[in-house]
Amino acid sequence: MKPLLPLIFERSVAGRTGYSLPPAEFPLEGIEQLLPQDQVRQKLPLLPEVSEGDVIRHYINLSLLNHNIDRGFYPLGSCTMKYNPKVNEDVSRLPGFARLHPLVPEENAQGALELIYRLEQYLAEISGMDAVSLQSVAGAHGEFTGLKIILAYHKARGDFRRQTILVPDSAHGTNPASAAMVGMKVVQVASDANGCVSLEDLRAKTDDTVAALMLTNPNTLGLFDVNIGAIADIVHAAGGLLYYDGANANAILGKVRPGDTGFDVVHLNLHKTFSTPHGGGGPGSGPVGVKSQLAPYLPVPRVVQGGEGYSLDYDYPQSIGKIHSFYGNFAVNIRAYAYIRMLGAEGLKAVSEDAVLNANYIQARLKDAYHLEYDRLCMHEFVLSAKRQLAKGVKTLDIAKRLLDFGLHPPTVYFPLIIEEAMMIEPTETEGMETLDYFIEAMLQIAREAEENPEIVLGAPHTTPISRLDEVGAARNPVLKWQP
Ligand SMILES: *Cc1c(COP(=O)(O)O)cnc(C)c1O
Repeated sequence: MKPLLPLIFERSVAGRTGYSLPPAEFPLEGIEQLLPQDQVRQKLPLLPEVSEGDVIRHYINLSLLNHNIDRGFYPLGSCTMKYNPKVNEDVSRLPGFARLHPLVPEENAQGALELIYRLEQYLAEISGMDAVSLQSVAGAHGEFTGLKIILAYHKARGDFRRQTILVPDSAHGTNPASAAMVGMKVVQVASDANGCVSLEDLRAKTDDTVAALMLTNPNTLGLFDVNIGAIADIVHAAGGLLYYDGANANAILGKVRPGDTGFDVVHLNLHKTFSTPHGGGGPGSGPVGVKSQLAPYLPVPRVVQGGEGYSLDYDYPQSIGKIHSFYGNFAVNIRAYAYIRMLGAEGLKAVSEDAVLNANYIQARLKDAYHLEYDRLCMHEFVLSAKRQLAKGVKTLDIAKRLLDFGLHPPTVYFPLIIEEAMMIEPTETEGMETLDYFIEAMLQIAREAEENPEIVLGAPHTTPISRLDEVGAARNPVLKWQP
């Protein structure tokens, strides 16, 4: 059926304007001559001529086709989709930060350098590390950087045999991928009956070729590995190091510091735990923290404080070098700084307490309706399974699709891989009881439907503009342009 209101592209009227530009800051006369001739447009672009109001509605309506954290609940396990206070956005847009050119002389960038310096110190304090670099721009990038540092450390000691990275089977996929990226051999370590690292398997696989063990604690099952002391002892005794994947630190802020539990290197995702919106490939920040014996290998430049104020120091001969242009994604770091300052030590602690409380509340109320493989207190997230619903032909994917009818984003599905029909739920600390209850009621209703009327779940979503997408086809043959 043809829509009653024509699409914006079909509403064009010659001479109708939808923009007003500020006056040019410099004369435009003759500017075409200054540009490379092959880059000068020969014809005007074929844009629809519509009013400003039409343009605004076009983009607002497009944005409503997507789910986002400002629209509704987004319990995407491992990803920490929490509400990001808007004040942090304002701060990162302050002209003194936003308009600062990365090549200005250091004396004109003292505020920015001080912010970097202080944020590094805060993150060192939070993670229990001695030195931090903010240069890496994603979690995976932090892993890459951290592993490079670990390799440089072993090499500097003449220890060339260490070519193995141990990774538990519950690990985030980026862990083995990053290890492969730095040319290391990945060896998987099994989980035990409690969902923690199997000490027996770890012992069997730890030898003098191990460069490091990469670990997330709490792990991707949302379970805190209480054997972390023994794990650290086993790896350290063999001369290996411990890498902490702190992409999601929402359960540990002010509670436990990776550095105090035996870890030598940490990365944090500021775009998860520290209040930068993420998803869709937006800018991130994955700072890397290290214990003092690894500090000489951190990326350069480092921000240092001296008599003259703050400066960028390149004089670290053992450094792994630069891993990103300039100083990483500075605007993300501003948001994290503002967030930490706003909350303070007590506020950060409350973040983790509330995140853990919210997750346990949902887990307790859903565990009779869905299979829960590891029935113990969880941390900031937990993993349910649709194993029981599968008997009626209802898969995790169907439940995820049905949640869309309730205006809810589904949890992470089919991850971690060690749980069949996994649904990994992370409510975060920013949701109130009413939202949690609404999600719980929706999940309970879907469980009933799977029993009594599976067709409604299998046919979902019913309320979205398009029902099930051909996701592979959409990725392989995207249609991104309006065609008349
Ligand atoms: C998100 C995540 C990563 C990867 O972070 P990116 O910024 O997406 O590269 C790594 N490990 C864990 C546990 C994560 O949740």
